[in-house]
This record gives sequence, C-alpha cells and structure tokens, in this order.
Amino acid sequence: MADEIKTNILNIRERIAAAAIRAGRDPAGIRLMAVSKTVEPERIRQALDAGITLLGENYVQEAREKIPVVGRPAVWHMIGHLQTNKVKYVVNLFDWIHSVDRLELARELDKRAGQRSRRLNVLIEVNVSGEASKNGAAPGQVLELVRQISILPNVSVRGLMTMPPYSDDPENSRPCFIVLRQLRDEIVSAALPGISMDELSMGMTDDFEVAIEEGATIIRVGRAIFGERRYSPP
Ligand SMILES: *Cc1c(COP(=O)(O)O)cnc(C)c1O
Repeated sequence: MADEIKTNILNIRERIAAAAIRAGRDPAGIRLMAVSKTVEPERIRQALDAGITLLGENYVQEAREKIPVVGRPAVWHMIGHLQTNKVKYVVNLFDWIHSVDRLELARELDKRAGQRSRRLNVLIEVNVSGEASKNGAAPGQVLELVRQISILPNVSVRGLMTMPPYSDDPENSRPCFIVLRQLRDEIVSAALPGISMDELSMGMTDDFEVAIEEGATIIRVGRAIFGERRYSPP
C-alpha cells in the first residue's frame, strides 16, 4: 500500500510531538531520520515524498548501490560500523557519519574528505552499556577522543550517538540515554575549540519517545516507518 509509509511517518511525527511536549521541549528540535537499510529505492522515495529529509544507511556496499539511484534530495547519514578501509567510499556518499569510535577512523575520514575538498559532520559513537558485542568508544575515552579529533580540519564533531542493548522494554534504554546526555554536557563544559555538541543521536523504533524525553535531537527510525525488515543484508 503506497500510503502506508506516509501514514506511518505522520503517526511517528505525532508521537514525537507528544513526547517533546511531555518533556517540555520544542518538537522542532527533534529530527526524524528514516533508517533505510534493506529498503528498496522505490519505498525510500515514498518516505521522501512524505517529507523525510534525513536518511540513514548501515552498510557501505548497500549504500554504494542505492544512494546514486535515490539521489540526494535528502541528507544521507552513515549509522553503521565503519571499517577504515571502506572510508574511501563513504566520503562521497554521506554528509554525516554517526559511528566514529576511534582516532584512526577519524584521521582516515579527515584525509579522504580533504582530498575531495569536503567537510564531514561526525558523531562519536559511545558504547554506554559496555557490552562486548557493541561498537563505540568507552564513555571514559570520549572526551580525549573528541579533543584529538578537534584538531582535524575536515571533520566536525557535532555530537554523540549511542545504541542501548536490545530490550523489549523501552524504559531499559533510559539510563543509557541519560549517560549519553551527561557525557555531552561534560564535553560542552570542556569548551574545546571548534567543537559543537548540538546533536544527540539516540532512539529507534522501540524507544524513540524515551530518547526524546532524555534529550535526543536525531532519532533513527527504521521499522516503524518501513515495516519489519524482510532480510538481513550481509
Ligand atoms: C537499524 C538501525 C536503526 C533503526 O532500527 P529500528 O529498530 O528499525 O528503528 C537505528 N540505528 C541503527 C544504528 C541501526 O542499525
């Protein structure tokens, strides 16, 4: 059904507004990213037609196939784990990278962006829960990492990103979101030159309302927009 994606988006926008108002926030301060991994270009276009302006992809190979087809009416965000040897591809495809978790990766992004006279917006991915299976910098390393990245000319640190452990109760994500916000506040207090910490990328289909209550500025929503993913890409 062609209207289903549009209906889903309208519904999510209402839930965003309600959560923002509960938290005493302006709903305009929360941006909805449509996470389009595994979603074919035709259905991504339906989301764009329904007003989506941010798209998120996880896998470099999939992004290389899809982004040129969909084009750039939207701003593309890389939200998946990024291997340093794939950086050469992402610099042309994405404007934002949410998964910077080590200096080596930031340096490679800086180098490749510089070669193409581009400037990339990056978020530091933080492994708040400390789960071994999760990517992300340890909370205690983030300030130093931001300090080191701040001197790189072609990447701009714009904030933090996290993914809480999977749980069927969204309340279980709240402590992670609080830690991310507090970490953001600490980095703001350090007043590093050239660093803006405006963005908190947190909250997905199952917990975006809790994330908004705790300060999210970008929520990353896949299934609630496009439905259950039909396959897992490699
Ligand atoms: C897949 C994914 C999402 C979206 O998850 P949904 O549960 O489908 O909303 C958000 N962030 C990241 C990093 C993802 O990999």
